Amino acid sequence: MRTLLFLLLCLSPSLLLALPTALPAPGGVAILDLGPSQDAPRAEFDGERVAVVRTENGWRAVVGLPLSLEPGDQRIEVTWPDGRRSRHGFTVLHRDYAESRITIREERMVSPGPDDLKRIEADRVRIRAALATWSDKTPDFDFAVPSEGRFSSGFGLRRFINDQPRNPHSGLDIAAPVGTPIHAPAPGRVILTGDFFYAGKAVMLDHGHGLLSFYAHLDSIGVEEGQRLERGARLGTMGMTGRVTGPHLHWGVYLNRTPVDPELFFAR
Ligand code: ZN
Repeated sequence: MRTLLFLLLCLSPSLLLALPTALPAPGGVAILDLGPSQDAPRAEFDGERVAVVRTENGWRAVVGLPLSLEPGDQRIEVTWPDGRRSRHGFTVLHRDYAESRITIREERMVSPGPDDLKRIEADRVRIRAALATWSDKTPDFDFAVPSEGRFSSGFGLRRFINDQPRNPHSGLDIAAPVGTPIHAPAPGRVILTGDFFYAGKAVMLDHGHGLLSFYAHLDSIGVEEGQRLERGARLGTMGMTGRVTGPHLHWGVYLNRTPVDPELFFAR
């Protein structure tokens, strides 16, 4: 019995490599069988490099699908180590996201002034640069939920403020009191820390192969850029910094620079 357990433990990293839940729909994840080869192929979707991982049946591409993607046929382009190229098609399904409509009477809160706009643009540049991070470490897709609390606002909500459409919700909100600890959901490296206009105090982690995670509205940040974190390491505490109406964690998960539904990365 003990020998069997030992064998299972030895084999488990390759046999039980956890992948996200496949959901080939806007805001979801497509998982595509690429077939076997000695060395890893390189895959791109819409010009962006995508995660490729080895499984017992060969290589698989794990592709993040933008919320703005129309249902229908899509494909990824694959380049093999011998220079051969192949295309792998898949079908994007329809997915309904709920609507959220709020009314804000104070105009200043809805339309930021010129100084705010300057800061918002500088923030955007920094965040966009961090989102372009690629590292060759094989990612661990098996996430733990990063904090205790209630899921207060789901990914993909179609938001309207005073009847004007806003960007859809790019993460999952978890609400709990200020000071609730926030933990790394999987091993990763800190690639961004800062205090941003909308996101408030925020941290971004690189888990490898374009799998990134983002933590916003923190009360305190407990890590520094460049630091490597194990799963469960404390990265900060929940707060209400930036544009918020109450304390919560905004948790974003990205693949190939695309926000995808964090709920596809953990078992409920
Ligand atoms: Zn949010």
